[in-house]
Amino acid sequence: MPGHYFDCNATTPVCEAASEAWVRASLKHWQNPSGLYRGAGMTRRLLEELRGELAGMLEVEEEEVVFTSGATEANNAVMEYASRSGGEGVFAVISAIEHPSVREAAEKWFGKEGVRELAVDQQGKVCLNALEEVLVEGAVGLVSVMAANNETGVIQPWREVGEICRKRGVPYHCDAAQWVGKASLAGLGECDFISGSAHKFGGPKGVGFLRVGGAARENFTSLVGGPQEGGMRAGTEDYPGVLAMMVALREKQGDMTAERLEGCLLERRAFEKRVGEDLPEVKIIAADAERLWNTVMLILPLSGPSNLKWLIRLDRLGFEVSTGSACSAGKGNPSHVMEAMGLDFDQMNRVLRISGGWQTEGKHWNALVDALLEVWEELKSGKRMEKREEITPSL
Ligand code: PMP
Repeated sequence: MPGHYFDCNATTPVCEAASEAWVRASLKHWQNPSGLYRGAGMTRRLLEELRGELAGMLEVEEEEVVFTSGATEANNAVMEYASRSGGEGVFAVISAIEHPSVREAAEKWFGKEGVRELAVDQQGKVCLNALEEVLVEGAVGLVSVMAANNETGVIQPWREVGEICRKRGVPYHCDAAQWVGKASLAGLGECDFISGSAHKFGGPKGVGFLRVGGAARENFTSLVGGPQEGGMRAGTEDYPGVLAMMVALREKQGDMTAERLEGCLLERRAFEKRVGEDLPEVKIIAADAERLWNTVMLILPLSGPSNLKWLIRLDRLGFEVSTGSACSAGKGNPSHVMEAMGLDFDQMNRVLRISGGWQTEGKHWNALVDALLEVWEELKSGKRMEKREEITPSL
């Protein structure tokens, strides 16, 4: 992946080891794992080994892991299950900054009236007091709070949320799509439901997983139409896809030493420091919050044009960034995350999301500041820029 790709929260390319594994498995173990012949049996055995491996990484039971088409499916399925099992008058509690696949699924299955939103503070972090209050108020069927936000990168107090829910006996769902592959998995297995998505960490698109904890397994169905995935999800299992996801996950989680994480964080901080010094008109959202090491959300200068002009110019210079989450980008809708954090409409039109990856080095962060400066100079002077040579990718 080129070092100047700064939209890793939207997606990442499949890493080499994962794509090789996918091709090998597609050629060698392509049989339907539900078949009764030996080739199918072998694919089933290999698939179940991967389930065991993922369960081990999450510290959950093997039977609790469902392979899905990604986090969107997983999040929808959790909401459906919670609304079916919760009974009359039960509501869902979600944070105000959840991904649309949680928000819209909650509204679909619980109705608008059946969803309570937890406020976030100005740094975009869920307020635990608000959670305590809403749990005292009434019958809650599910709490859903993500591990880290896809737009701001702000790390949520998911461990504390899980603890509060456990004390009250309320099921807790953690959308960990932006967490898995970027941070330690320790403690995730304490959440009753966990969603993950392969394409956020160098695996293929259209593959993901869901942990369905404990008794929920008895009545849980994501897709109906066949007995696959222990009866929890119908559809032919995608062994090559799951293998590629696991190869990518092994690679990312295996390399994740405390020193490496610290190094990545220092590089992001150095970028932010330079932005502060060289572009004082640019503000960093949730600057003081604990954030993923790869994510920076900027508010561009108030005196300049909106974020799309910046994005187009940065693209011409070879830097791919985002104006917000890919799911709402280009729709002209203001981001519900920014809204929840108290940004006004004008500020929302000026946000730029920068999300690096494991391949991003200090020199790439530095080159991005140079490019931002160049764009700002150009926008101020109103002249067009020439396409600059792309910087050489490091990986
Ligand atoms: N949740 C979060 C926090 C995400 O960032 C995304 C991807 N934008 C999703 C869910 C959806 O994941 P997928 O693409 O696997 O459906």
